[in-house]
Amino acid sequence: MLVVESLHASYSGIRALRGVSLRVEKGEMVALIGPNGAGKSTLINCISGIVPVQRGRIELSGQPLDGMTSWAISRLGLQQVPEGRQVWPEMTVLENLALGGTALRRRAARYTLERIYDLFPILAQRQSQLAGSLSGGQQQMLAIGRALMGSPQMLLLDEPSLGLAPLVVKQVFDALVQLNREGLTILLVEQNSKLALSTSHRAYVIEQGSIAHEGPSSQLKDDPQVIAHYLGQSTS
Ligand code: ATP
Repeated sequence: MLVVESLHASYSGIRALRGVSLRVEKGEMVALIGPNGAGKSTLINCISGIVPVQRGRIELSGQPLDGMTSWAISRLGLQQVPEGRQVWPEMTVLENLALGGTALRRRAARYTLERIYDLFPILAQRQSQLAGSLSGGQQQMLAIGRALMGSPQMLLLDEPSLGLAPLVVKQVFDALVQLNREGLTILLVEQNSKLALSTSHRAYVIEQGSIAHEGPSSQLKDDPQVIAHYLGQSTS
């Protein structure tokens, strides 16, 4: 579904991505892990058209995305759940969800409001409340619900576990696994490598703007180098 090939990106001459290639097949959940500043957010922001691509190729279901605005890309069914949630704090939960639906255009809605409330019942209870008054976990659920309202064929998530209590992380990840089992393709950026490798089918490890390792998540979890560098465990 998604093909990224030899991607380069820079910020004012500072190279953030140095020839990254990655693929996500339809129905897969793929994780992208790596240390702070490795280029994870830059990569997904390039895919969704937020950060300009310097060189390389990105295709969604065979369609090149070069030069397209993030708005046009979202209308193709590629929705991003941004780092830090970025819900609209002065709008209600329902208004945030309704705005997510504007990315739909002429495509059929794959996820209804009822489905999102079924996935995250707390959002139904809080639908008239301002998004800014929600807890971090509830805002994360809202950000995912807002992206689903745009009827994604593929979801990009940037650090969905960031700053959340373990119980809430479990709720959020259970929902992502359920969505993936129902056929939603997911590319997940996560600092919590253990969690990412235990929930995804395949993973890529990015380091200083280049892919350092890739493979089935179950194998990477047992790779001594990955364990030593990214899972915070000793190999001896
Ligand atoms: P983190 O987990 O800390 O978010 P990351 O892997 O997502 O890290 P990026 O945010 O993609 O990494 O950053 C890659 C590199 O690009 C880093 O060196 C970072 O300092 C730099 N960078 C990111 N955004 C900008 C920006 N807006 N302007 C200048 N440099 C940036």
